[in-house]
Amino acid sequence: MICVTIGGETRQLEPGASIGQVLADPSAVAARVDGRLTDLTERLEHDAVVEPLTFDSDDGREVYWHSASHLMAQAVKQLYPEAKVTIGPAVPEGFYYDFDVERPFTEADLVKIEERMAELAKQRIPVVHKLLPRAEAVELFRSRGETYKLELIDGLPDETISVYEQGDFVDLCRGPHVTSTGKIKAVKLLSVAGAYWHADEKNRMLSRVYGIAFPSKELLQAYLDRMEEARRRDHRKLGPALDLFSFHEEAGAGLAFWHPKGATVRRLIRQYWEKEHLAAGYQLVLTPHIARAGLWETSGHFDYYAENMYLLEVENEQYVLKPMNCPGHMLIYRTKVHSYRDLPLRMSEWGTVYRRERSGVLHGMMRVRGFTQDDAHIFCTPEQVEDEVHGVVGLSVKMLRAFGFEQFKVDLSLRDPVRRDKYLGADEQWTLGEQSLVRALERVGLPYRRAEGEAVFYGPKIDIKLLDSLGREWQCPTCQFDFNEGKRFDLYYMGQDGRHHPVYLVHRTVLGGIERFMGILVEHYAGAFPVWLAPVQVRVLSVSDVEAGYAREVGRKLEAAGLRVEIDLKSDKISLKVSEAERQKIPFMFVVGGREAARGDVSVRRHGKGNLGAASLESALAQIQEENNVPG
Ligand SMILES: [Zn+2]
Ligand SMILES: [Zn+2]
Repeated sequence: MICVTIGGETRQLEPGASIGQVLADPSAVAARVDGRLTDLTERLEHDAVVEPLTFDSDDGREVYWHSASHLMAQAVKQLYPEAKVTIGPAVPEGFYYDFDVERPFTEADLVKIEERMAELAKQRIPVVHKLLPRAEAVELFRSRGETYKLELIDGLPDETISVYEQGDFVDLCRGPHVTSTGKIKAVKLLSVAGAYWHADEKNRMLSRVYGIAFPSKELLQAYLDRMEEARRRDHRKLGPALDLFSFHEEAGAGLAFWHPKGATVRRLIRQYWEKEHLAAGYQLVLTPHIARAGLWETSGHFDYYAENMYLLEVENEQYVLKPMNCPGHMLIYRTKVHSYRDLPLRMSEWGTVYRRERSGVLHGMMRVRGFTQDDAHIFCTPEQVEDEVHGVVGLSVKMLRAFGFEQFKVDLSLRDPVRRDKYLGADEQWTLGEQSLVRALERVGLPYRRAEGEAVFYGPKIDIKLLDSLGREWQCPTCQFDFNEGKRFDLYYMGQDGRHHPVYLVHRTVLGGIERFMGILVEHYAGAFPVWLAPVQVRVLSVSDVEAGYAREVGRKLEAAGLRVEIDLKSDKISLKVSEAERQKIPFMFVVGGREAARGDVSVRRHGKGNLGAASLESALAQIQEENNVPG
C-alpha cells in the first residue's frame, strides 16, 4: 500500500492507480505531485502529495490552453496536410500555434479550423504521453516531414524524447496535457498574424493563429462579451471621440496632446491630488527637464538605465532629458543639513519624464514616451519608516477609492531568502524596510502576496494593482525603498547624538503616469466621468432660436454656481442635439423650450438615465450639486 495525500486528506491506496482515477474530479485538468506538474494519467507508485489543478488555477489554465493549441494543430494537419507545425504555447490569455504554410491563414480558414476542433473534441480522443528513444522520435517526425520538430529535437540534450499523441496527431512536448480532447469544451479562434520562426526576421514568416478555450460555452461567451465591452471602451477610440486627447504622427509616436477637455480632467485630478498631498504633509517642488550627464552618473542611471534615456548635446556637453525625477529631489535635499527634527521630509512633484520605449510597445496613453508621474520621495529616520510607509499605503488606497476603484491586488517584493549577497544596503536596513512594509499592509488591512526574491537590488517594495470595472488589473501605486541612491548622493541627517546618519529614502507614486491613469479612467468609466470629474458637467440645449436668450441666461447662472457648462444654440432639431450630448457623455442636459422659458424651468436629462422631467432652475441646479461630490 502507498500513502497519498490529496487536498490535505491522506489515503492508503494500492500502487498503480492513475491520478485521475484517484481524484475522480471531472473538473481537474492536471495535477501537482510533490510539487511537480503532471498529467492525470500518471500512475501513483509511491507515497505522494497530490494537488489537483482545475481551470480556475493559473497552472491549470495554462495546461488547458496549451492542450487546446495541440487540438488546433491536429485540426490544421487534417485540413491542410502540407502545413508544418512549429510551436504552440499557452499565453496569459489563451494560446497560439505557429504554422508554416504556403498561403497564410485567413479568417475563413479560422472558421473551418474551429469547426474541426469542435468535431475532434466531440470524439473524445485520448491524449497519450509517450517517452521515445531519441532515434525513434527523430524517425517519427522525419517520416511526417515535420522539419521544425527535428530542429527542436536537435536542441534537446535528452536521450528519451517526450511526445503527446492524440489520434492521428503527435507533437513533441514536455506536457502536461488534459487526458482527452473532450475536455476542450468551447473554443474561439481570435486572430491570425505573421510571426518569424524563433522571432528572427531572417527566418521564414509563419502563420500564427491565436485562440482561447473554456470548459463551458457560458464561460467563453462571458469572455467574448468582456472583450467586446473592452473594445467599446478603448481609450484610443473614446479619447479622440470625446475630444480629450490625440496623438500625431507628425510630432512622433508615444507623445500625447491633451485637448481642453482632457486638460480639464487632468487639472481636476491634480487639484484633488494636491489637496490630499498637502494635507498629508507633502511639499511640492519643481525640477528642470534636462540635466548634465554627470548627474545621471552619480545617480547610477547611466549604469543600468542608459538605453531608456534621450541624450542631448549642448555646447559640447552631454545632457539627459530626464527619465526619472529622483536625482532632482536628491539635489534639493542636499542643499541643507537636515536635523532629525526636520524629518520626515516628503518632497513631491508632478514631474514630466521621457523614456525611450520601442515603437512596438507603445499603446495609446497606456505606454508612451513622454509622461508625467505623480512622484514623491520621502526622507526619514529609521524610527519613522513604518509610519511613513503606512501613510503612503493609506493615502494610495484612499485616493484610488475616490476614483471608484474598490478592489486591489498587492504584491510585496522581498529579498531572496537564500541569495542575500546580491542586494545593496545593510542587512538591518532591509529587515527594517521589509518589516515596515508588512506592518503597513496589515495596519491598512490589505491582503497581499509575498513575492520572495522579487525585490530589485536596492530595496524591497509594495506594488498595488487596482481592478477596473471590467475586472482588469492595472499597476498604479508603488512604494519602493532605496538603499542605493541615498548613499550615492551622500544623503544624511544629524541625529540626536549629533552625528551623521544615512537617511532612509522611499520613492513612491500613487497614480503612476498621469497619461496612463487617464487612459485607465476613460476605460473604467467608459468615458462617462462622474460629475465631479466631467470636463463638461451640464449642457444647455435650446429647442429653437426663440429660447436663445433664456438658454444663455441659464448658462450664466450655472457658471456662476461654479459648474462647467456648454450652451448649444445650434438650429438643429432638439432630438439631434440631445443625441449629440449623449454621445459626448455629458452627465446633465438642460433642455429649454417655450414652456420652460415662460416658467423659468428647465427640462432635465441625465446621461444614461434619460428624461427626468421639468424642474425649476434652482432645483435642477441642486440635482447636479448633489452628485458633484469632489472627494476628500
Ligand atoms: Zn504540448
Ligand atoms: Zn524616485
